[in-house]
Amino acid sequence: MRYISTRGQGAASTSKKRFCEILLEGLAPDGGLYLPESYPQVDDATLTRWRTLSYADLAFEVLSLYVDDIPADDLRTLCRKTYTEAVFGTRAIVPLKKLEDGLYLQALSNGPTLAFKDMAMQLLGNLFEYELARRGEELNIFGATSGDTGSAAEYAMRGKKGVRVFMTSPNGRMSPFQQAQMFSLMDTNIYNVAVDGVFDDCQDLVKAVSNDLVFKRKYKIGTVNSINWARLMAQVVYYFAGYLQATTSNAQRVSFTVPSGNFGNVCAGHVARMMGLPIDKLVVATNENDVLDEFFKTGIYRVRGSADTHETSSPSMDISKASNFERFIFDLIGRDESKTADLFGRQVSQIGRFDLSADSHFPEASSRYGFVSGKSTHQDRLQTIRDTWKRYGVMVDTHTADGLKVALTHRTPGVPMLVLETALPIKFAATLVEALGREPDRPEKFIGIETLPKKVKFMSADVSAVKAFIAQECGY
Ligand SMILES: *Cc1c(COP(=O)(O)O)cnc(C)c1O
Repeated sequence: MRYISTRGQGAASTSKKRFCEILLEGLAPDGGLYLPESYPQVDDATLTRWRTLSYADLAFEVLSLYVDDIPADDLRTLCRKTYTEAVFGTRAIVPLKKLEDGLYLQALSNGPTLAFKDMAMQLLGNLFEYELARRGEELNIFGATSGDTGSAAEYAMRGKKGVRVFMTSPNGRMSPFQQAQMFSLMDTNIYNVAVDGVFDDCQDLVKAVSNDLVFKRKYKIGTVNSINWARLMAQVVYYFAGYLQATTSNAQRVSFTVPSGNFGNVCAGHVARMMGLPIDKLVVATNENDVLDEFFKTGIYRVRGSADTHETSSPSMDISKASNFERFIFDLIGRDESKTADLFGRQVSQIGRFDLSADSHFPEASSRYGFVSGKSTHQDRLQTIRDTWKRYGVMVDTHTADGLKVALTHRTPGVPMLVLETALPIKFAATLVEALGREPDRPEKFIGIETLPKKVKFMSADVSAVKAFIAQECGY
């Protein structure tokens, strides 16, 4: 398997890359995103064979189709080390919870940080450690978080050889639970940096450091953001696992509803569908930040400025643009690299929008690729949390509630609807209390974490101070 960029560089066969070459990279050099040059097809007999596999072995089978530069035994070992009952809480790893006939939650949030990002990040931690050891290299991950991504990265990389994580977050702006999750990590390779400012200030620091190429090279600065192909690939696995649990025959189809922000999660669903998994619809659910819902309804993709980006009670979906969306658009317009470069490299970056409403490919977003969408607001969220609790005795988090709300408007008789549960309610307790008048249950291992000792460095939003801190801790 070789990888190409959505913007064309790499189209020449000499510049196509292998998996381990793009594993530690973010964007392609031309600013595009990496995608496999074709989607491997999973035939009926293979899908049947996969029905009896454990999650870890299913992951190995799916990953093997995309990774040909890690020996099979090593890759299998990495998968088995990652997807264990001890880390993910159940043998099924991503069990289905039936709400009623034909309506399920697929639990993706029983990993260490109680959000679906653990599903990919835990694998990434093991892949990074493996590849860095093989190369004899080190990597310093420098990132910004307002909650879920940073903690998932830290829990994936803690104790990993060859990796340090420097994670900035806006001081005092994460929920006490999220803060405690991150700041209580005492691992010597994990550095929490609480920045005097807002999330944008943290992101600006990351950009400033990444733009200093000399510093970046010397200190081997990398990221683990959601455009990383390996993260997306790891997420493809749970679409297969969900499908196989919900069906007994490959003649059946299922639909998935995905609470979406940066389009990483649902893009993995798109990849699974392209591989031949019998998915009927992929339902994109957004919150008030409805960039994606607007596109699927109108064909217009319009990124938002920070003034138009709402702070909502499903904060992990508060995005101004959907960083993985370029991958789907590339497929939608027939893998036309120069057109993709024009849409994202020129139109989005210069005028903040593009319009495909009159493009002959746009109707295929739903007719050929199965995409539909919907939007959910704070009131919808509260109502859905209440209804789900009352009707099924199940508590859902705010993001999953957005998914459920939208899913209910896209059900087809005879086609099971799987709503991806992307976080546990305890992470967003304040809104659960607002909806239900009671605190959500807290998994045992998180009882009392707010009182644990904390390891955190407080800093102002000052690039040179942050660089000095990284240099000092790296010691070279
Ligand atoms: C990150 C996140 C999302 C959004 O996922 P994308 O891949 O960005 O679309 C939804 N829910 C939760 C809880 C998340 O942490």
